[in-house]
Amino acid sequence: MAQSDSGIPAASRFTASLQARLDHLAARQQLRVRAVLQRTSAVDCHDGQRTLISFATNDYLGLSCEPRVCQAWAEVAGGQAGSGSSPLVAGRGEWQVRLEDRLAQLEGCAGVVLFASGYAANLGTLMALAGSRDAIFCDRENHASLVDGCRASAARFFVYDRQQPERLQRSLARRRQDFEQVFLVTDTVFSMDGSLADLPLLSELARTFDVVLVVDEAHATGVFGAGGRGVCELQGVQQDVAVCLGTLSKAIGCLGGFAAGSQQLSDWLWNAARSQFFSTALPPAVCAAAIASLEILLSDTQRRQRLRQRAGQLRRLLQEGGLRLAGYCGAPADATRLNPDDSPIVGVLLGTEQAAVEASKRLKETGFLVPAIRPPTVADGTSRLRLSVCSEHTEEQIAEVSAAVLRACR
Ligand code: PMP
Repeated sequence: MAQSDSGIPAASRFTASLQARLDHLAARQQLRVRAVLQRTSAVDCHDGQRTLISFATNDYLGLSCEPRVCQAWAEVAGGQAGSGSSPLVAGRGEWQVRLEDRLAQLEGCAGVVLFASGYAANLGTLMALAGSRDAIFCDRENHASLVDGCRASAARFFVYDRQQPERLQRSLARRRQDFEQVFLVTDTVFSMDGSLADLPLLSELARTFDVVLVVDEAHATGVFGAGGRGVCELQGVQQDVAVCLGTLSKAIGCLGGFAAGSQQLSDWLWNAARSQFFSTALPPAVCAAAIASLEILLSDTQRRQRLRQRAGQLRRLLQEGGLRLAGYCGAPADATRLNPDDSPIVGVLLGTEQAAVEASKRLKETGFLVPAIRPPTVADGTSRLRLSVCSEHTEEQIAEVSAAVLRACR
């Protein structure tokens, strides 16, 4: 083992330096804990001591536990657990191709590329598309996977605040000519408060300034739009979006990510998206489960209606109880439009980290799993409880959790 002049082996000094960093996080109460939670149904889990009603998953339609989805998974998994290699080498078989086709149909586009996760899709796509002569404009509240993709790409990276669209417009007007291509990147549903991006406005800016619009529909697929195709469908901008990113891990209830767009986009990603071809392809059983899930997601519109009804009920009860919900707070007309009552993510603003952590703890004691979200995930002073609603929550459970949140936040 290598030793320094001090005689202490390098590995021991390294371990000590990691411990010092961990101690620093612990002193700031930012050390993450590793919880063990056993899911027992779409909305229940067990923490080793008690059963909790969970408001902490992104399984918005309960499809990860749906018997037809699990059966599709089991039938294919019986013969092959893993795909064995990168899609580029030998990992892309019949099930991966079927899933690509199904997603292309869903998105109404020519080409889809699958990734091992939504994170990998966002990272790999932005790295593959934006080069050193380009710029990316990225919403301040975009998911970390988009932010990391912007940072990892060779492009200049500008952060904008969607609450101030005039500033974004001025910035695009000032800088557009300095770059070959400019990308405007946004989540369509923001994961910390459930508010929506103003896609008609962004589409208009994209047209005016000759900019490529890239959207991440992670929390929107299966939830928004008459056909469950997401906020692009809801807001009628599908034709303006050049790159649509998505995940199979939320309403679809499985695992994996994808990028959808033109045939040229998918051909380019196939050649340039490193997180795609330097990683093993999705297991065939996961693809089969995702296909089964997509069938249900598209045909069973009642699930979607129930989800939106439950989300609306939760929001109304919390607001009537006097709690402040997180969300877009620009011009009043926009605020109404971009904070839909039926968004399945509800953020209850509590301010301090301590208030959020204590409220979450009290909720757990009364049988509800509701995570506290705090810095650095959200800005200082905006710590909150985040509730994620599922179509399988009953009206009674929504009423009970609302009452429990009101008590816990008092
Ligand atoms: N985009 C958004 C907006 C997300 O919230 C997440 C996950 N939380 C991802 C992408 C990453 O998706 P995945 O879990 O499939 O990696």
